[in-house]
Amino acid sequence: MLDAQGRSIDYVRISVTDRCNLRCVYCMPESGVKPVTHGELLRYEEIVRLTRLLAQLGVRKVRITGGEPLVRRDLPALIRGIKAIDGIEMVCLTTNGLLLKEQLSELLSSGLDSVNISLDALDETAFEAVTRRRGVSMVLDSIDAALCSGLPVKINCVLTELNERQLVPMAERFLSDERLALRFIELMPIGLGKTLEGISPETVAALLSEHFGKMTPLEKESMDGPCSYYKLGELPGRLGFISAVSNCFCESCNRVRLTSTGFLKACLQYEHGVELKPLLQGSDETILSAMRSAIWEKPKRHSFGTRGGEHLERHIMSQIGG
Ligand code: SAM
Ligand code: SF4
Repeated sequence: MLDAQGRSIDYVRISVTDRCNLRCVYCMPESGVKPVTHGELLRYEEIVRLTRLLAQLGVRKVRITGGEPLVRRDLPALIRGIKAIDGIEMVCLTTNGLLLKEQLSELLSSGLDSVNISLDALDETAFEAVTRRRGVSMVLDSIDAALCSGLPVKINCVLTELNERQLVPMAERFLSDERLALRFIELMPIGLGKTLEGISPETVAALLSEHFGKMTPLEKESMDGPCSYYKLGELPGRLGFISAVSNCFCESCNRVRLTSTGFLKACLQYEHGVELKPLLQGSDETILSAMRSAIWEKPKRHSFGTRGGEHLERHIMSQIGG
């Protein structure tokens, strides 16, 4: 459906848990957060029902996220349920990759269409500085396994002061593989993201061009979303930048978010939206009507970099799902 700005909303990001096996400094405090209780969490049948209703409103693509989605038991069962919904064309996953290799064959059988793997460093010390845990080799094994399986893979790397020296080695390793896209994500001032220094995409572009040669823009494809892609020198992989702060793409935003407790969130930065869990007792029509209002009232744009705003999001990223 269209929102009040005329944007077509056809994509939902579904967070299936707020728990995680890492503690990335821009996302979760070291001590973790009090996890939502079993009773508060949406059950898989409830997520499938809400997704079916969103599909009736025009949603075509689903991304499963978290917290870390692979820490929730039997995720493939949920993916199978969502894949069976009329109108849903793609179900994708965003994961930190730690548990991906061991769950890969079941995920493939469930019909998963693609995976985005978050990785900010190749070096274990730098990885630990960002995630407060160890595990680079497990993530790299998962990337290799996913690539060997034929699943489309993208690597997402958040740009912070902690991984600046990792960017050239990461480009060298991942962009040497023509099957891969490496996407640099500008740090967003949401939750703990406000406590860190990011690196500007321009700085990174200059650094990479100096090492690998000219960055040539690639033609935009329909599935690229907010990411701008480039060819870097002679490297065969695709280099991407997602720069929500310095290059606001709200005008073409096509997404809403469903949190693990059933809040349909209209914009990443604001608290606008609707609690759907209490409505699950009622009819589909009641839920559809609440969804329609929340989508219609989706905020026009974020206000990163400006002060104030009584509706600004107070949750941290692991609770929202990125
Ligand atoms: N645990 C999974 C993962 O890390 O891929 C999925 C959830 S995580 C919240 C989704 C994405 O949000 C990750 O790529 C993560 O790096 C990104 N993210 C978290 N906090 C961020 C921030 N403040 N700014 C930019 N990206 C952020
Ligand atoms: Fe966990 Fe992903 Fe947040 Fe890192 S970014 S703490 S892996 S949810």
